Amino acid sequence: MSYLLRGVAAGGGIRVVAADTTALVSGAVEKHGATPTAGAALGRTLTGALLLSHVLLKNSRDRVTLRLRGDGPLGGVIADAGLDGTVRGYVNNPHVDLPLRQDGKLDVGGGIGRQGEISVVRSHAPYGDPYGSSSDLVSGEVAEDIATYLAVSEQIPSAVLLGVYFDGHRRVKRSGGVILQALPGADEGALTLLEANVKALGQLTTAMADAPILEVVRDQLLWGMDFELLTDPPLGVAFACRCSDDKALAALAYFTPAERQQMAAEDGGAEVVCHWCGEKRWVGVEAILGISGAEVRCPDCGTLWYRDGQTRMVRDAELCTCGRPVVLPN
Ligand SMILES: [Zn+2]
Ligand SMILES: [Zn+2]
Repeated sequence: MSYLLRGVAAGGGIRVVAADTTALVSGAVEKHGATPTAGAALGRTLTGALLLSHVLLKNSRDRVTLRLRGDGPLGGVIADAGLDGTVRGYVNNPHVDLPLRQDGKLDVGGGIGRQGEISVVRSHAPYGDPYGSSSDLVSGEVAEDIATYLAVSEQIPSAVLLGVYFDGHRRVKRSGGVILQALPGADEGALTLLEANVKALGQLTTAMADAPILEVVRDQLLWGMDFELLTDPPLGVAFACRCSDDKALAALAYFTPAERQQMAAEDGGAEVVCHWCGEKRWVGVEAILGISGAEVRCPDCGTLWYRDGQTRMVRDAELCTCGRPVVLPN
């Protein structure tokens, strides 16, 4: 099982969130059929989103969405996590693989790209507008990008460690992450020691080979700093999607009635693949033909603007994908 722990050190001056996500990331890589490069990018992002949820969220129903969009061949990676311990995510091009770097490590930075943006959106349930901010990518290696985001956008000085280690059979052997934060008023001496400890640790997944993540945090990263564990037992975390048959059907509403007729007549139904989790659902003829209700489409390109009984997909006065301003009837 994958799990997460939280703690404080140095008399409350340092906050830590850490997770062992080996099982979770292993399952996600399998679901998406991701290569080691894509899987490492996805695994780091899933783990990063879980850690961030504990740094940025307060309400158990709020979510945080972490997205890295760079100029590399993976085409972007995204994860959505909450304090309930669930996370889901995907990488746009999971089949892309890159040669190992000179130092023998997976080239996640080359896969994501070094030019681009990291964005974090907090959505507050059940109402309230989502709040988002972003910063430039630093290396595309995910951990460094998150640390810079936290420093620039949230003014929280942080050290972020993320790692996914694959064995020789392209299977996830270890995956985990740690965020260490200096809170206002943190002791200078403690911060110097923390920096030295982080440097001495080296690779997180190498340390995890010899000790559970709690011991890595307590005995190595926060060595000499009076670590106090706040979560005992640890909190379970898992990959969980929120897709359903209803949502699959709703996705088909984006197609024009003529296209839906064609699916029913020629294909005898339609397969809908959830991009978040890779699950395939078959929607039968009856359900497809049962899609009804008033809809408004773009006169230029046919994009669905509004559908009766559903959330508006495009808002009034926004621009359609073709550039035409959206005008919805009252
Ligand atoms: Zn799904
Ligand atoms: Zn249009």
